[in-house]
Amino acid sequence: MADDELPPAPPVRMASVRFGGEAGGLPLPPLPREPDAERRRRARLAKPTKRHTDKPEISYPTNFEHAVHVGFDPATGEFSGMPPQWVSLLASANISIQEQRQHPDELINVLNYYDASNKDGDQTKFMVPTTEHNPLWEQERDPPRASLAVGPADARADGARSGSDHSGSTSTPDTADPDPESERDKFPEEPEPEEEEPAPPPPPVAVRPERTKSVYTQPLAPEEPAAAAGSPVTNGKPAAPAKGAAPTPAARDTPRRPKLSDEEILARLRSIVTIGDPLRRYTKMEKIGQGASGVVHTAVETATGCEVAIKQMNLSQQPKKELIINEIVVMRENKHPNVVNYVDSYLVGEELWVVMEYLPGGSLTDVVTETCMDEGHIAAVCREVLQALQFLHMNHVIHRDIKSDNILLGTDGAVKITDFGFCAQISPEQSKRTTMVGTPYWMAPEVVTRKQYGPKVDVWSLGIMAIEMLEGEPPYLNENPLKALYLIATNGRPEIKDRDKLSPQFQEFLDLCLEVDVERRPSAAELLRHPFLKASRPLTSLCPLIEAAKDAVREQNSALKLAKAV
Ligand code: ATP
Ligand code: MG
Repeated sequence: MADDELPPAPPVRMASVRFGGEAGGLPLPPLPREPDAERRRRARLAKPTKRHTDKPEISYPTNFEHAVHVGFDPATGEFSGMPPQWVSLLASANISIQEQRQHPDELINVLNYYDASNKDGDQTKFMVPTTEHNPLWEQERDPPRASLAVGPADARADGARSGSDHSGSTSTPDTADPDPESERDKFPEEPEPEEEEPAPPPPPVAVRPERTKSVYTQPLAPEEPAAAAGSPVTNGKPAAPAKGAAPTPAARDTPRRPKLSDEEILARLRSIVTIGDPLRRYTKMEKIGQGASGVVHTAVETATGCEVAIKQMNLSQQPKKELIINEIVVMRENKHPNVVNYVDSYLVGEELWVVMEYLPGGSLTDVVTETCMDEGHIAAVCREVLQALQFLHMNHVIHRDIKSDNILLGTDGAVKITDFGFCAQISPEQSKRTTMVGTPYWMAPEVVTRKQYGPKVDVWSLGIMAIEMLEGEPPYLNENPLKALYLIATNGRPEIKDRDKLSPQFQEFLDLCLEVDVERRPSAAELLRHPFLKASRPLTSLCPLIEAAKDAVREQNSALKLAKAV
């Protein structure tokens, strides 16, 4: 690479946006001075936000029936039948009486969403009330509450298996495993002390507030998860839906396939995964990430020395077990340079292990929260993501959870989409969806307002991600998620700070991604031709940002550790 391609030392954010400017209240080492042009913009971001500090804990409704029929009388401006749980949710979310009266329909929609997202007793991972004051949430999650039988079908027929090991270790491998206990030691939850080899330290584990986790709710109209019910996504893709195919009443009336039982899901998984013990093939795992559905480790394929990432998902902890099949089927069937490459998968005890290409640069979240990206960087990332989206949409896959957390980076600046756990495979019979799925702050208005939606929801989320790259976080992140949903439903296109400082091309690009009218919002293929993308810098220009972000996260983690030890 020519020297002149390398930018000067990357500007880092004066204070990590991830920690609301205060690193969770911890003292951090001073960051390098920023270039003058950035300083004013960053000064605003450096102001402490409410993100981790003074937000009220929301008490979520528990154990109540989803039979809420709330009415609104425009004459009196009063709601009828509002359950007390909703009243307290509204109070916690800081949605004023005036706001409630202004948009009663939108309000009821988002409240219904909260109801639905907390309805299933097993939904421990989605929008759980949690300890935002403790950013190390990934190490302090609840043990599994439900159990799912995994292992030889005959032995597991009664589905009774409780007290599963939360440590990510194996318990009853599908295939002969001479000594699972001894294998367990090879997979420490925490990185082991580096005594044997002077390997570089693992990338720091990213820390994200609970509210940035993904959410899945019940569909309003019948629909299926992509591969859940054994849809034919493995052998050839479904035929293309007519372009712009209307969400016909017929589609809405399609009877829903019966929900698969745990045993059926396991049977399906068994037909997909590789039989055998991954521990015989992969070694040296170190924890590099933690998401809603499981823990991610690095590993080395012993025979080749190839480094891979393994995502271990405890099946008993998945609120939508059928969605987990997406993770592998869609990744396996949709190979693209901008999609994280699926390598293999295994059933290990109660866990599904997905082996995939390892992206050592970490997630884009680290870069957006810790460094300042310029338009050239942002254009380059948008172009790469759009290439993946164009490909996925062409193959009738809607990702539904585009956000910086789900974009992984190579140390060479490669940009790849991951996390297909929530994607939807559309078909001619069902080209539109209604499930409110994704992560609230990134959700398109048509998702939030429970309309039927299609692939363009990913384009909206990309627009929100572009704001993350610009400002360090998505709009409304300092708001309660319920309020954020309300604001998305009622405000439409979010306001962009210092918009007039952006190039006209970038402004137009953002406006197009964040166009509320779906018909007028361009497709990924159309956006790929947008002039803003011509401003893309080479992907290698992302490398210094990736390194700077890693350093910053590492320092924050050490500070947190230190504070914990004291
Ligand atoms: P969520 O639903 O909250 O997004 P998840 O359970 O689906 O999370 P992932 O997003 O797939 O989990 O992974 C969690 C984290 O692990 C990522 O943010 C990333 O930091 C790391 N990670 C995942 N896959 C890889 C990979 N292939 N290479 C490097 N790091 C990875
Ligand atoms: Mg993820």
